[in-house]
Amino acid sequence: MTASSPRAEVVIDLEAVRHNVSLLTARASGAAVMAVVKGDAYGHGAVPVARAAVEAGATWLGTCSLAEALDLRAAGITTPLFSWLDVPEVDFAPGIEADVDLGASSVDELTRIAEAAERVGKTARVHLKIDTGLSRNGCPPAEWPALVEAAAAAPSVEVVAVWSHLACADEPGHASVDLQAKRFTEAYDLARAAGLNPIRHLANSAALLTRPDLHFELVRPGIAVYGLNPVDTGDDLRPAMTFRSTVVLAKRLPAGESVSYGHTWTAPRDTTLALVPTGYADGVPRSLSGRMDVWLGGRRRPVAGRVCMDQLVVDCGDDAPSAGDEVVLFGAGGAGEPTAREWADKLGTIDYEIVTSMYRPRVRRRYLGDRS
Ligand SMILES: *Cc1c(COP(=O)(O)O)cnc(C)c1O
Repeated sequence: MTASSPRAEVVIDLEAVRHNVSLLTARASGAAVMAVVKGDAYGHGAVPVARAAVEAGATWLGTCSLAEALDLRAAGITTPLFSWLDVPEVDFAPGIEADVDLGASSVDELTRIAEAAERVGKTARVHLKIDTGLSRNGCPPAEWPALVEAAAAAPSVEVVAVWSHLACADEPGHASVDLQAKRFTEAYDLARAAGLNPIRHLANSAALLTRPDLHFELVRPGIAVYGLNPVDTGDDLRPAMTFRSTVVLAKRLPAGESVSYGHTWTAPRDTTLALVPTGYADGVPRSLSGRMDVWLGGRRRPVAGRVCMDQLVVDCGDDAPSAGDEVVLFGAGGAGEPTAREWADKLGTIDYEIVTSMYRPRVRRRYLGDRS
């Protein structure tokens, strides 16, 4: 198999990641940038993306799980690293030894971190999370005074930050954003009053792009690092992921013949079909059957009939595709090809889910612009 004829391939443009991180750094009002690389970097590959983000100015990396953070450390990445959500059974000790900052949302969690720190004989760096209204993770305001006091009193713990997460930042002007910001500042003031001197971080991509007043000392963009803009601000973000395949067979089909399982599509005229060896096992949702296009031979063309597990069929009319021609399932959109956002809109979801779902054993991942 050559680079030009993949069965199914996800191409990640690390130059686009660098461009996006530089843009976000410039938009961050002097705040440090934590590139969020959870979920295997939203399906883009955590280690190469983390390296590219750091090359472009990110001075922090963020993961959800400690295991994700330790994978980055194992790859030799020494950048400050924050991990924020694990099960109660997790052993924090390897994280503390590997200089991973840890999130704490309760006195119980803080206590487990402090115990692990004592065991390894090293201070744990902790970011205390206040629930300002997302009502997911985070310490409820009623329990916050106890948490900051416990943290201030714990000798094996250094409180690095107070942080929270916004529910509706992607709906600029939503009243909850200001309410969450107010509660955030109240929690920060209480932490200061307890003798702590933490930094603050609150902003995801949407808040980074729309709420400079909420940048504080550190911002946590995720989706924008990958070039997808949750608030359509018109910033020059560049989608980093392209999903592509190759024509394996082209043939004429007479009018009146039907295509693929269930015969849901019948040729209205004589036409040429292109067979593409990519299906729902490779990440093409079957529910896009009958309502998706691909980019083939310099233009969009509709997929005819059902998307199958391993293949789909493209209606090329009287054009003559050849075996080996490139097929773009989705890409940056600049040429007119479908985008992850277009898939998301059709499927009733967000582009986050589309790109994050693109890690599949049968799909090759290839990187452009890798400097390592
Ligand atoms: C995922 C996540 C982010 C990044 O959010 P985006 O909308 O992708 O920018 C930031 N902070 C936390 C806590 C997250 O879970």
